[in-house]
Amino acid sequence: MASNKTFTMIKPEAMAAGHAGKILDLILSKGFRVVALKYTRLSEQEAGKFYEVHKERPFYGELVGYMASGPVLAAILEKDNAVQDFRALIGATDPAEAAEGTIRKRFAESKAKNAVHGSDSDENAAIEGAFFFSGREQY
Ligand code: ADP
Ligand code: MG
Repeated sequence: MASNKTFTMIKPEAMAAGHAGKILDLILSKGFRVVALKYTRLSEQEAGKFYEVHKERPFYGELVGYMASGPVLAAILEKDNAVQDFRALIGATDPAEAAEGTIRKRFAESKAKNAVHGSDSDENAAIEGAFFFSGREQY
């Protein structure tokens, strides 16, 4: 059965640029409900663990350094078909390929600094949500 939750982070460059409010507003306007929300910063070690699936990729070191470079806004979101619908809302990894109206098209700086994270499966949404939030931080 498909879960109705996904996990997101507004990434450091979008936070630094002051886009958090607009991005969150857009997410809420598309029918996602906030289950959990946290302003926090990853250490390099934590960023390395979060992105462990990419550790063989050439951009892993850059990605880890970038994600630990400043605070992020982490959230668990709820909606029917959450994972797929949220991936559609954020758009392609590379903003140059992202569709008009998507978060990455509007707010991403580059393929690396692409404004937001979105889980790619129900299984990873659960793992990633639990990485940031305890049970009593989710409502
Ligand atoms: P997505 O975030 O769209 O699921 P991936 O899971 O493939 O994309 O990659 C994770 C993150 O790694 C991306 O969001 C982006 O920040 C970074 N990244 C992906 N590909 C590259 C690349 N070729 N060069 C630099 N950073 C990249
Ligand atoms: Mg991914």
